[in-house]
Order: sequence, then C-alpha cells, then structure tokens
Amino acid sequence: MAKLKVKVDWDLCISDGVCYALCPQVFEAGPDGKSQIVEQYRGANPWEGEVPEDLEDCVEQARTACPTGAITVEKE
Ligand code: SF4
Repeated sequence: MAKLKVKVDWDLCISDGVCYALCPQVFEAGPDGKSQIVEQYRGANPWEGEVPEDLEDCVEQARTACPTGAITVEKE
C-alpha cells in the first residue's frame, strides 16, 4: 500500500494543537506543544514520518486546517 510522507515544519508550527485535535492517529503534542508524528509512524526525526494511505483523509484534514501551512504531505 502506498504511504504518505508527512512533515511538520517546526519553524512554522505555532503549537495551537489543531492538527492533533483533528487527527490524533498521526499527530501529537511534542516539545513546547509543537506537532510531532506519533511514534508508530515516526521517521528519523519527530517532525517527519510515513503514514499508511488509509489515513489520508485524516492527514489532509489536519494539513488544510493548519493555520500556518506547517504540514506537508507527499505521496510515495
Ligand atoms: S495545526 Fe499547524 S500550527 Fe497547529 S500544532 Fe499542528 S502543525 Fe502546528
């Protein structure tokens, strides 16, 4: 199954918690409330990971709701 490469730009993230409220399957509060990828899908860094495609709706909801455009999603 295809995976989604998800990244959170911590320079842009303002820790408002919108993404982890909308999509807790993928995002959680990290240091200072910055959004990080949950451990299950996390890559080498807490702000990036690979998520199964069946969570695309959830990830997209978070991405479009993020007020600063900090979340990027790429299909692999
Ligand atoms: S919605 Fe955007 S600004 Fe808010 S915590 Fe998530 S990544 Fe950060």
